[in-house]
Amino acid sequence: MCDKCGVCDVKFKANEFFLLCSGECARGFHSKCGDLSSKEVQLITNNKNIKWFCNECIEMFSSKIDLKKDIADLKTNVIQDITLIKEKMAITEHNMSKQVIHKKPYANVTGEVVVIKPKNSQGNDKTKSDLKNKLNPSNLEVGIKEIKNVKDGGILIKCSNTIEVDKLKTESQKKLNKNYVIKTYPKRNPCVK
Ligand SMILES: [Zn+2]
Ligand SMILES: [Zn+2]
Repeated sequence: MCDKCGVCDVKFKANEFFLLCSGECARGFHSKCGDLSSKEVQLITNNKNIKWFCNECIEMFSSKIDLKKDIADLKTNVIQDITLIKEKMAITEHNMSKQVIHKKPYANVTGEVVVIKPKNSQGNDKTKSDLKNKLNPSNLEVGIKEIKNVKDGGILIKCSNTIEVDKLKTESQKKLNKNYVIKTYPKRNPCVK
């Protein structure tokens, strides 16, 4: 039991504050003998989450735990993680650079666009909100690159490829046909994939 200090072997006086080791020894220690200030002792005693270990218990832990191996393992894991992140970043960068290169010829040569024009005169905003409410292009899984207002209340939607243009056209015709004219524009060039 902890009736005397684990360092100096002196019995604790009645009501004397002492530190309790959270290690296996579970002995008591004078704060002085535990190399702690009275403030530190107060903090430890008042806070159940803070555990204090005597030097002997710390030494016992250290001999049990191979810290060097733990750190080496940790290092390996971190390096593996970093390598993985770098690889993912490289792939993303590669894909992004491809997109940038493709963007111009696609947009300029084939013009992957759908133009939706109202049959009756109305504002662009009305066309846009109709499209959003009746079709909601974001649910179609169509990669929309750009949406522009065109004349007569129409809107132009730039897509990534012909498949998406066709998808958008078909869906728009199904859901908006009564009030709108839907065209893919300009005519697609079959030579460009
Ligand atoms: Zn002591
Ligand atoms: Zn101890």
